[in-house]
Amino acid sequence: MTASVSSIYSQILDTIASVEPRVADATRQELSDQRESLKLIASENYASLPTLMAMGTWMSDKYAEGTVGHRFYAGCRNIDTVESVAAEHAEALFGADHAYVQPHSGIDANLVAYWAILSHRVESPTLARLQAATVNDLSESDWEALRHEFNAQKVMGMSLDAGGHLTHGFRHNISGKMFQQHSYGTNPDTGLIDYDALRATAKEFRPLIIVAGYSAYPRRVNFALMREIADEVGATLFVDMAHFAGLVAGKVFTGEENPIPYAHIVASTTHKSLRGPRGGFVLATSEYADAVDKGCPMVLGGPLGHVMAAKALAFAEARTPSFQTYAAQVATNAKALAEGLSKRGVRLVTGGTDNHLVLMDVSSFGLTGRQAESALLDAGVVTNRNSVPRDPNGAWYTSGVRIGTPALTTRGFTESDFDEVADLIAQVLANTTPTTTPKGPSKAKYVLADGVADRVHARAQELLSDNPLYPGLEL
Ligand code: PLP
Repeated sequence: MTASVSSIYSQILDTIASVEPRVADATRQELSDQRESLKLIASENYASLPTLMAMGTWMSDKYAEGTVGHRFYAGCRNIDTVESVAAEHAEALFGADHAYVQPHSGIDANLVAYWAILSHRVESPTLARLQAATVNDLSESDWEALRHEFNAQKVMGMSLDAGGHLTHGFRHNISGKMFQQHSYGTNPDTGLIDYDALRATAKEFRPLIIVAGYSAYPRRVNFALMREIADEVGATLFVDMAHFAGLVAGKVFTGEENPIPYAHIVASTTHKSLRGPRGGFVLATSEYADAVDKGCPMVLGGPLGHVMAAKALAFAEARTPSFQTYAAQVATNAKALAEGLSKRGVRLVTGGTDNHLVLMDVSSFGLTGRQAESALLDAGVVTNRNSVPRDPNGAWYTSGVRIGTPALTTRGFTESDFDEVADLIAQVLANTTPTTTPKGPSKAKYVLADGVADRVHARAQELLSDNPLYPGLEL
């Protein structure tokens, strides 16, 4: 890092401050907060400075609805360039037939995938009429007609408490409204996906779409087997690799664990283990390519030129050997973290991990996920609470805390650092006591024993300063 990058960012912040100082202050503060906390949120990372810089430009100012070379606006040649460069890198990185890099987020990417599958596989006059509307514009009768024309199509995804995502058919998400849905869970004894049970459910339910992928499942998925099951029931296999795209890109997940050769459609975010800008993308076989390219205007507005520019950089970075080293270290570190926690008496869902995340069941400490999450935050350890399978505390308080290694691995943490992180987490959990109120035990309040937060915080700062974030960037 050269001194000039520090001075460029300083000038940028001064320029922002000249319009609204509070925004500049919050931006500056966010850098300090990120530098000074043990960021263990499994879905977060730190994008490279070139990737961040690519988002702060005038590429944001251009409307470019449509696809490369077929825009609804004039003057899109530079957006065409960044979109095609991003798609070219994504296709090469993942070995996919086709990449669509416009989705603004992971949820948008999933919506594009769902609508592409529906429009490719199901005849619907109402859909044809509504091509240009956004889903928010649909009336109840439109929904009724669509459901009817789509013959109440069925989706089967992993249940939320087993680690699936809201967009995999959860009843309060559009995926659960649009489709008849049935979820698959995990084996109650092992916590692992039970492929035989999944096959039996698929044979009975006969879904149009099987969704594979997760937000909080600490294990790898056998996509070859998922495709076999999808083929047996005539379903389209849609893989949401938002969480583990970095492990696919970095060739940690290969063979049957690599979704690309097996899925009809793959959707993802760019900002989690893939370490790019906040956004999404869809990969498709050539059969689904045209349907996917209708993402805008089907469910998306104008593409974000500045974010597609940043995606192009992130995909290019992920094609380098150093990204493969990074991805391998993410998985190695997750194992070290899991082992460190287990040996200190923390119960883990499935007993460990073989991806980038670990799901702690904190109920053996008498805590809810919410209490554990808050106590850890008091000590500067940033995590998020998460349901465990068949969670008695529901999705708000939960019994689990999800932690992941992508962000701290970007800073340079290795196995021994993660063993220390495990020790700090275990210290906080062992020294947190739930509070009892006059109404009974609280699911939110707790007491963290004196001195623990300071001790953990101090050790965390040492680990963090040995592994600086954006070294050389001084603000
Ligand atoms: N899919 C999965 C599996 C996720 O975990 C997430 C985010 O947490 C998403 C989709 C949605 O991503 P975004 O927040 O970018 O919309």
